[in-house]
Amino acid sequence: MSYKLFIPGPIAVSEKTYNAMTQWVMGHRSKDFVNLFQSVQPQLQQLMYTQDPVFISTSSAWGVMEGAIRNVTKKGVLNCMSGAFSDKWNDVAERCSLPNGKLQYEWGTPIDPEDIRRELSTGKYDAITFIHNETSTGTMNPIEGIMEVLREFPDVISITDTVSSFSAVKIDKDALGIDVLLTGSQKALAMPPGLSLLSVSDRAMKRAETVEGRGYYFDFIEFQKNYEKGMTPSTPVIPLIYALQSKLEDIFAEGLEARYERHERLNNLVRAWGAKHGIELLPPAEFGSKTLCCFKNDVGIDLEGLRKELKAKYSCDIDGGYGKVKGKTFRISNMGDETDETMNTLIGQLDDLVPQFLPK
Ligand SMILES: *Cc1c(COP(=O)(O)O)cnc(C)c1O
Repeated sequence: MSYKLFIPGPIAVSEKTYNAMTQWVMGHRSKDFVNLFQSVQPQLQQLMYTQDPVFISTSSAWGVMEGAIRNVTKKGVLNCMSGAFSDKWNDVAERCSLPNGKLQYEWGTPIDPEDIRRELSTGKYDAITFIHNETSTGTMNPIEGIMEVLREFPDVISITDTVSSFSAVKIDKDALGIDVLLTGSQKALAMPPGLSLLSVSDRAMKRAETVEGRGYYFDFIEFQKNYEKGMTPSTPVIPLIYALQSKLEDIFAEGLEARYERHERLNNLVRAWGAKHGIELLPPAEFGSKTLCCFKNDVGIDLEGLRKELKAKYSCDIDGGYGKVKGKTFRISNMGDETDETMNTLIGQLDDLVPQFLPK
């Protein structure tokens, strides 16, 4: 049985995107592949607001998240942690035996740029990771304030995860001074899982040249060498590059400003639904994500029961909380191709079903 996904990743994939994936698979060293690869570059750079190359990686986001810290960390990487994904990034640094430090917040608390300034002033770090939109808690970190502080530390390479916010809100990589901007395919881009994108600044490339133990699969230098030929280091997931080409067509047909506006509008619909029922967001409202709502389940909804019925009756799924806030929170995604109609339909279905799953 298939059902429509309103969980914050993977999310619903359009028929057009699926159809794009059925195109011919060519040799990845052929002129035809180079044409495909190069056809997506200008729009990817435009979408990232960057002059730097955009590398295409056949992996989920964790591949390039691990790869990025291995490419640029020498002295130490500071990990800003405030949810499942950002906490895990520190764990990954540990597993890679990279010197690291934690800037830990309660889940749902946004990063305070002043804390970053204090930590970096110790001189212990030459890299930093932070997640723009912490999907597990629906928290959007203040990227402008963070990058303003980071520009005071030119020796610290910034690595920014935009997996669940990329293309849904404007993230101007070059103006903000982000060194490594990365995203995955199955969240804000509404493609099937399996592809990651990353754009790497000159400074970060220069750092990588001096770092040992970068490995092979996610080596920035390998990406760059192949990029110059219009290729990827190893055989890429060609069907997903077709999907990306099709998705970029959709995004630019809608227009970037209209796309950003749509995400904000649909997010506000879901927030208003919560407010109507006295259900609060986990993060402070002004730091609430614009691509999903992570609500506190203080009213005690039986989330397992609700999700089961939502699937059975309406063929839809929402999320019942992630990691240590499972059951205590629930999440509804508005990223990707959602419209006023699809979100209002979901809201109507929730209004129909939620009362049955409240404590008697
Ligand atoms: C989902 C997610 C990831 C991990 O993505 P995978 O594709 O599963 O590797 C990383 N960061 C954020 C913010 C995410 O939402």
